[in-house]
Amino acid sequence: KLFNEIQDLRGNIRVYCRIRPFLPGEKEKKTLVERIGENGELVVADRSKPGKEGHRLFKFNEVYGSDASQGEVYADTQPLIRSVLDGYNVCIFAYGQTGSGKTYTMTGPNGSTKENWGINYRALNDLFDISQRRKSSITYEIRVQMSFVCLDLHTLGIMTHSQPNGLAVPDASMHPVEATSDVIRLMGIGFKNRAVGATALNERSSRSHSVVTVHVRGKDLKTGSALIGNLHLVDLAGSERVDRSEVTGDRLKEAQHINKSLSSLGDVIFALAQKSPHVPYRNSKLTQVLQSSLGTSSLVSFVVVRSFVRYVAMLEFLRCFPTGGQAKTLMFVQLNPDASSFSESLSTLKFAERVA
Ligand code: ADP
Ligand code: MG
Repeated sequence: KLFNEIQDLRGNIRVYCRIRPFLPGEKEKKTLVERIGENGELVVADRSKPGKEGHRLFKFNEVYGSDASQGEVYADTQPLIRSVLDGYNVCIFAYGQTGSGKTYTMTGPNGSTKENWGINYRALNDLFDISQRRKSSITYEIRVQMSFVCLDLHTLGIMTHSQPNGLAVPDASMHPVEATSDVIRLMGIGFKNRAVGATALNERSSRSHSVVTVHVRGKDLKTGSALIGNLHLVDLAGSERVDRSEVTGDRLKEAQHINKSLSSLGDVIFALAQKSPHVPYRNSKLTQVLQSSLGTSSLVSFVVVRSFVRYVAMLEFLRCFPTGGQAKTLMFVQLNPDASSFSESLSTLKFAERVA
């Protein structure tokens, strides 16, 4: 309870860690997980060092081991999703190296069935369910937008602020939806457009951030008052470090852009967690896109100060005002269990430690 209160004070930032299981072809590998304790403790081990020498302890709000089901993970996420219908801005990220389970957590496996749906589908399902149940007192309009924030050099240049809601995503179209089936169809289209063969998909998705945005507007039928909530569900680009000796030219520049946008994201969340008066949203496209949902009360003062130069942000601020502009952030830190990728996992964990 006290822990939750402290979390609230720190701007509603939560960090969950999830370690995916070994896949069928990986049975003989050694795991980096030494122990998953109560209260969100995770001990990882560098197996190249003897005994306890390579052990390191990290603390999160939750840790999910390889046996955690999609349903269990969602159960701890659901309260945030529900608060979107009460006018909160919620941002959920999956961070980790390529192959660590980001897409599995956010969307589910390829061709997933209801049992292993990821957060995206479950969240939308819930939003529709609850809005239906509240129908007699509040009417909701739910819009879903899928965008891919591509970080390759060719699309980076065409991002604009022309969207009325402050989202700077090219080619993003808004789709009003009424039921989960619409969403499944829509997301199916979105992901199919991206799926140009499995390898190409992996290539592409590991190098772009994919964002599902849900805009919720509610109208209280009795009082006539309005509320607005936004939900951003973000499958981030792979966080792996790129070996400079292996890539050059455009590929190297692209990798540098990815690392820059991920570290900018870390800086923003870190600043929010510290209640810093200056939150560096403008350092990357990604954080600009997500600004409305990352901020807390410090966002409000930031936006006021910047409103002259950022008309778009001002609009967003005005729209958030009836709700108090409240924001909640959840980061899933995804790990590959393989002990041989320890150093990559350690840098993932260190990134998370900074914002946790
Ligand atoms: P990323 O999006 O981080 O690159 P993926 O989500 O594509 O990683 O996961 C890599 C592989 O591991 C996929 O085949 C995926 O289905 C599988 N996988 C990831 N997490 C789990 C899990 N919790 N349970 C079972 N399989 C998983
Ligand atoms: Mg992926």
